[in-house]
Amino acid sequence: MERRYDLIIIGAGPAGMSAAIYGSRAGLKTAMLEMGAPGGKLVKTYEISNWPGITSTNGAKLASDMFEHSTAFGAEYLYGNVVKVEDGEYKKVICDDGNIYEAKAVIVATGTQERMMHIPGEEENVGRGVSYCAVCDGAFFKDQEVVVIGGGNSALEEANYLTQFASRVNIVIRRDVFRADSIVQETIKKNPKITIVTKHIPIKVVDDGKRVIGLVVENVDTHVQTEIKTHGIFPYIGLDPATSFLEGLPVLNEAGYMIVDENCETKVKGIYGAGDVIDKKLRQVVTATNDGAIAAQHAFHEIKKL
Ligand code: NDP
Repeated sequence: MERRYDLIIIGAGPAGMSAAIYGSRAGLKTAMLEMGAPGGKLVKTYEISNWPGITSTNGAKLASDMFEHSTAFGAEYLYGNVVKVEDGEYKKVICDDGNIYEAKAVIVATGTQERMMHIPGEEENVGRGVSYCAVCDGAFFKDQEVVVIGGGNSALEEANYLTQFASRVNIVIRRDVFRADSIVQETIKKNPKITIVTKHIPIKVVDDGKRVIGLVVENVDTHVQTEIKTHGIFPYIGLDPATSFLEGLPVLNEAGYMIVDENCETKVKGIYGAGDVIDKKLRQVVTATNDGAIAAQHAFHEIKKL
């Protein structure tokens, strides 16, 4: 199957959905390709309190409203797991099911994926106690002790969320300071259900053959290992860009993030990056939607010139 568009957007998170609104409203034949549910990280976020105009909303609700909006002006929503993008007069977007889509411009808005700890016992216990999504799985740990690993905004916000269900949330950090914003740190310190374990790194996930029963952690100074008894482990140790399908193109930096100019365009004309996937400092819903709008608007002007 081969189909031609003016604009293909890969990824239906806030950046991709914003690009779809701007592209389709400008009259471009637009398609948005996504391999999961629309919304990206939004659907995994319990509360959003920095989207201008709405003091506090639920991530899934904002995602659903954005999705409805993104297809309201004619953008098509297609299922597809992209494995390669090729340059040319028409860019080729190749999916793992054999579908190939072509477009005059491509906006990559695939975001980031959660980094794994890469320790023994982790991979085989995903879904049996190891989870990268507190909003999806937190309720399974009602009145139980859970562990969150990491000291960034994600770890602390999700730890706070988990205290609704868990009897105790142990946050394990490898230094004695957090990386998260101070406003987020303050909330954590006030929460009586949270215990902070500093200067420890995760070493091994322990299971009983059916589910997780503990996490072995090691003191970074003394190297003494201890086991925290728990059925739930939530690693939030950072994110990596989802860009492996772009490896043949000269658009990535060493860490795999896309390098773009002020129009969100890469060195390869007609290939854009938007949202968390690009090399930038502030990764937020509001900055992602900004990138999507800029990329789609520039693509529109360039296509009009052709
Ligand atoms: P961060 O990179 O900000 O934090 C990662 C945390 O994990 C750090 O505490 C880091 O420790 C720790 N860590 C990294 N590797 C390991 C390891 N192997 N073992 C143990 N600990 C480890 O990632 P986040 O996912 O929290 O955030 C990503 C981006 O998204 C940030 O820019 C963040 O600000 C933003 N964000 C913003 C939100 C908001 O504004 N509401 C919400 C969520 C995310 P160390 O500090 O020692 O390096």
